[in-house]
Amino acid sequence: MLREAQDVLKQYFGYGEFRNGQAEIISNILSGRNTAGIMPTGGGKSICYQVPAMLLDGITLVISPLISLMKDQVDSLTFQGIPATYINSTLSAGEVEQRMEEISLGEYKLLYIAPERLESSQFIKFLNSVNIPLVAVDEAHCLSQWGHDFRPSYLGINHAVNQLSSNPVILALTATATPQVQIDILNHLQIPSENKVLTGFQRNNLFFNVLKGEDRKRWVGEYVQKNRQQPGIIYCATRKEVENVHAYLEKKGMSVGKYHGGLSDSLRLDQQEAFLNDSIMVMVATNAFGMGINKSNVRYVLHYQIPKNMEAYYQEAGRAGRDGVESECILLFSPQDIQTQRYILEQNVMSQELHQNELQKLRDMVDFVHTESCLQNYILSYFGEEIDEECGHCSNCLDDRESEDVTVKAQMVLSCMMRMNERFGTSLISGVLTGSKGKKIKDFRFDTLSTYGLLKGESQKEVGLFIDYLIAEGIIDVEGGSYPILKVSAKGKEVLLGDRKVYRKKLVNAAPRLSNDDELFLALRTLRKSIADEEGVPPFVIFSDKTLHDMCMKQPSNDIEFLNVSGVGESKLKRYGEMFMNEIRSFLKGNEEYTRKVEQKESRESSPRKVRAQTDEPSHMVTLQLFTENKSIKQIAATRDMSTATIENHIIRSYEEGRFHDWSIFFTDEEESMIASAVNKVGEKPLKPIKEELPPEITYFQIKGYLAKQKMENE
Ligand code: ADP
Repeated sequence: MLREAQDVLKQYFGYGEFRNGQAEIISNILSGRNTAGIMPTGGGKSICYQVPAMLLDGITLVISPLISLMKDQVDSLTFQGIPATYINSTLSAGEVEQRMEEISLGEYKLLYIAPERLESSQFIKFLNSVNIPLVAVDEAHCLSQWGHDFRPSYLGINHAVNQLSSNPVILALTATATPQVQIDILNHLQIPSENKVLTGFQRNNLFFNVLKGEDRKRWVGEYVQKNRQQPGIIYCATRKEVENVHAYLEKKGMSVGKYHGGLSDSLRLDQQEAFLNDSIMVMVATNAFGMGINKSNVRYVLHYQIPKNMEAYYQEAGRAGRDGVESECILLFSPQDIQTQRYILEQNVMSQELHQNELQKLRDMVDFVHTESCLQNYILSYFGEEIDEECGHCSNCLDDRESEDVTVKAQMVLSCMMRMNERFGTSLISGVLTGSKGKKIKDFRFDTLSTYGLLKGESQKEVGLFIDYLIAEGIIDVEGGSYPILKVSAKGKEVLLGDRKVYRKKLVNAAPRLSNDDELFLALRTLRKSIADEEGVPPFVIFSDKTLHDMCMKQPSNDIEFLNVSGVGESKLKRYGEMFMNEIRSFLKGNEEYTRKVEQKESRESSPRKVRAQTDEPSHMVTLQLFTENKSIKQIAATRDMSTATIENHIIRSYEEGRFHDWSIFFTDEEESMIASAVNKVGEKPLKPIKEELPPEITYFQIKGYLAKQKMENE
């Protein structure tokens, strides 16, 4: 049975192997066992029910909390050649009826609905008229009130499924579930604990970063500017802050949208679509944005303020890099934001017990900001997973910045606070320290204090950021709500007495670590966007970024090679194969340098799919060995899993190094003289005009061979 599942994976989804957990979940389902799959975002949960849906008789029911996601999911499946549909409140009564009829006729393999629909006895009656072998409950953490997205309608799922006469198997899926939430899921959906498949929450392609004491706005402005080719999300805690950051970035000329609960439905929809379609690159949003976002190529998620808890943080940050491509998650911390989150919490009516629980979660969130050990491990252990190895690429693992001793400066701040009787906030304290001539300072006669103007050389903003740092380090405590008052903490007293030193890492710049996409990738992305616009779907429905990157590496030039690209199944080959191969072909013709670059990259990164030399021998020497064994260029390319263009370059290079002297592999005498006269006419570089002078049968390989020969003869 698993073999057939593997065939479906290849044929429809274009993937050669199951990922961690997928095979186990699928084999459970196919054996009729209720199962819970707990996998990280981007782990590939959907395949766990989509593949069985194709193997089981009848139609698989998928329960998903957000209707905005359903259209994209159904479009993606349709483009992959899988008949799927959805029924939700965005459809008219007529459309719903039509779809129900088509379902009765057996036209679909998957049906997506929201949980609320199961509350209709009419709909249950309809479901009982068709065969439902499998019910997949997506975002299953929504059924636990200990989770962060509790939806009461989820509690009706079990009852509804029990009424289905086809006695379907249940599959619960989630990416964010603490151990407590996991127990709720298993109990509620009657899943035996031995059928819980937990692959771990680790996301190796995400780089976590926490930055403290930065001038956030400026930092974000620089970061977005440097990464302007990349799609990203910036989360803020409040609508006001969204507006503020959005206006700032817009003024800087960035391609930016905004999303929060205070905007009209239509504006929100417009902004969301523009982001999904890659028409705007950056989205500034509150946590209202994202649950329904399936966009797989989000390259960074910035948290402008801390979110309310780790679940929310990991879910939001986890929206980066769903396609498996390296992406960044950066949290910009400022201590005042803890007050903001506390304030938001106070506004929500909830039981005392839940309130305490939420406060504890906020404390855990703040601890994350302060931890000095691996950030990825902190997250994993929060979700009940202990891992010994550090991720090696979060800001803590990579932190080799030098520490500065800032004890004296900290003492200046603290003693100034003491002299002001610990009754004021950051702005007045920093005003006194920088020698501001403000009215309030005069009124309180703070200009007579010995600490007045002690930090005259710095701006008030810089001193404010330093105070933030001291708060973050627990040296200063914050009290009060809207107008917080700063107090010297117990730790701070030790600093004042000279019993404790304060160190601070040097500030970091907004240097992006995201790799710059190469020219072929950008060309393919442009093609993808134009097709997506024509077909009215988001670009990632056509191909993921990961698939485009793989195309750049493999440079397929025929159907078999194209099918070999990760993420290309038969349906996508038929739909887009020719267009993308043409694009690659014409790009390579106009960009001779490109193959060389890819080749260099290939030799740096070893890929298990490639047949590679086991020695340190240069790549072109391996080609050469095969070439001397009289293998054709095509054969060598296939054996080495490289493009023919790369192999041709290897051969040219070998000739240039004087390893061969038989030029007849390139051209006949007649062809050589044709190339010679073309070169005489338009010069040796670039190659394109030479090619255009010649009959189409003459290839770039021949032209390059001719030029290599000239070079050898002239030396
Ligand atoms: P999740 O729902 O767990 O966040 P998705 O189901 O959206 O993740 O899958 C994330 C990405 O991984 C998608 O682009 C999907 O096509 C891809 N993917 C899923 N399974 C595999 C696999 N076995 N091999 C390669 N890519 C896969």
